[in-house]
Amino acid sequence: MADDRAILVCMPTALGPAPVKTATERMCASCGCAVWVSPESLKAAERCGPVTFRCVPCVLAEPPPAETEFRPLSPGQVRELLDAREDR
Ligand SMILES: [Zn+2]
Repeated sequence: MADDRAILVCMPTALGPAPVKTATERMCASCGCAVWVSPESLKAAERCGPVTFRCVPCVLAEPPPAETEFRPLSPGQVRELLDAREDR
């Protein structure tokens, strides 16, 4: 089944501060809670298609179909996380 939607799995803001300082708030499409989205994550997801944001608890409670393709972190996302670590 062809499906060009990208689901970006995000950390709820209620669980703690943004993992990356430049992250902005979006809304989980499943439960409506606020989630953190980093600029590089958004860029990576947009390369795959229209982006839907879902929080980690929602994805764990209702995982995507088995045929879902998972993408590793992009080089930009890795750089962003490493930079955030050095800021601490
Ligand atoms: Zn949710």
